[in-house]
Amino acid sequence: MGKSSNEKANSRKGSVKPASEPVSLTGASTEELLRELLVRLGEDPEREGLLRTPERVDRALQYLTKGYQEYPEDLLKGALFTVSYDEMVIVKDVEMFSLCEHHMLPFFGKVHVAYIPKGKVIGLSKIPRLIDAFARRLQVQERLTTQIAECIQSAIKPEGVGVVIEARHLCMMMRGVEKQHSSAVTSSMLGSFRDQQQTREEFLSLIRQKSSNGF
Ligand SMILES: [Zn+2]
Repeated sequence: MGKSSNEKANSRKGSVKPASEPVSLTGASTEELLRELLVRLGEDPEREGLLRTPERVDRALQYLTKGYQEYPEDLLKGALFTVSYDEMVIVKDVEMFSLCEHHMLPFFGKVHVAYIPKGKVIGLSKIPRLIDAFARRLQVQERLTTQIAECIQSAIKPEGVGVVIEARHLCMMMRGVEKQHSSAVTSSMLGSFRDQQQTREEFLSLIRQKSSNGF
């Protein structure tokens, strides 16, 4: 967002408003809010290392939440293919980075996705993009897991879908609370993955296997 040098000078000086004036945050730029946050944390936003920090944090947050501008259903539209293949398709160990919505701190780990096609498959490269579109938002791990599974379910109506996410949460690791629970596993099983124990177990055993081919 561009802004005039005048505005910039004003915000740097931090003009004092009379207490009677209602405080409006909506008029402030994200950079101004972040500069104010630095002050409240006890920092000096004018010191050299912090001068461009509000701008950088703003850009980082935009990037980390860009999933809000992505439409996962549209993303899949051009990448659905008709096939007669009906064995399990599995994409495992996809790296995932997200922000927990309770603390806005990262949680990250691996996503494993599997489905049994019923006439249609998704281009393999779209699975990681689909995961990113949901992960680059403020999330809880449980909802992220369900959203990925349900999106695949509605796009290709397969026999079933399974999604497992193993992730570590910095909000727990860094704050020193519940360190033993800082790693969490969530799963969402739909269709045959929910109804048939054999299918579910095949999926779970496939994601437990360490790849021997170096991948
Ligand atoms: Zn959290």
